[in-house]
Amino acid sequence: MPTDGGATMPTPDVSLRDGATAHRVLHLHERVLGKNEQQAALNRKLFHKKGFRVINVLSAPGSGKTALLERTLTDLRGELRGAVIVGDLATDNDAKRLQRSGAPIVQITTGTVCHLESAMIARACEQLDLDAIDLLFIENVGNLVCPASFDLGEGLRVVLASVTEGEDKPLKYPTLFKTADIVLLTKIELADVAGFERATAHRNVREIATRAEILEVSARTGQGLEAWYHLLRGMVHAHA
Ligand code: MG
Ligand code: ZN
Repeated sequence: MPTDGGATMPTPDVSLRDGATAHRVLHLHERVLGKNEQQAALNRKLFHKKGFRVINVLSAPGSGKTALLERTLTDLRGELRGAVIVGDLATDNDAKRLQRSGAPIVQITTGTVCHLESAMIARACEQLDLDAIDLLFIENVGNLVCPASFDLGEGLRVVLASVTEGEDKPLKYPTLFKTADIVLLTKIELADVAGFERATAHRNVREIATRAEILEVSARTGQGLEAWYHLLRGMVHAHA
């Protein structure tokens, strides 16, 4: 019988065709998620009490999460007090890059864990002055699969897909895209070079992320960013 309290996910060492093992692994998975959800609820309560908005930023590796956040924090400096908790398997490269914006940044290095969990966010928050934040971004580990299942206590999910990834990302990863409040089509300045079919991409996003706002943006040229900032400002002011 497992006695680890569900804190870690075991690697199944026998074939999942074994029905009993499959059932047990599934059961453990549910307990991990249950524990995550309890902490996520506590996080959400804390964020609410402190009065700031929290955005979970999700995408595949290399879609431009860090570039977008660096530009966003820089452009909104002096207007909105932003902060970032950034998760990566290894290195603090992204934290260093984000620090150039002058905003408070906390790096979480997850090692072998390919997603962020609510307990990691709670610990990272201890390193931030929560009374001096309007907007907290959580840059999740680049991964379109399991971060979808882990609520971090965020108020909003933003999913990025870059034009170089093709138009069918939402169709291939519907679980994540379904939970998106905003979908950003990034690196839009490369759309023509990449042969990116805008209309197809929009249709695919709309099919899966039925309620999401869809924006085309470029962190490099600034295209579309005003609409993104408009959403962020609206969020903060609605909350205030
Ligand atoms: Mg990054
Ligand atoms: Zn994972």
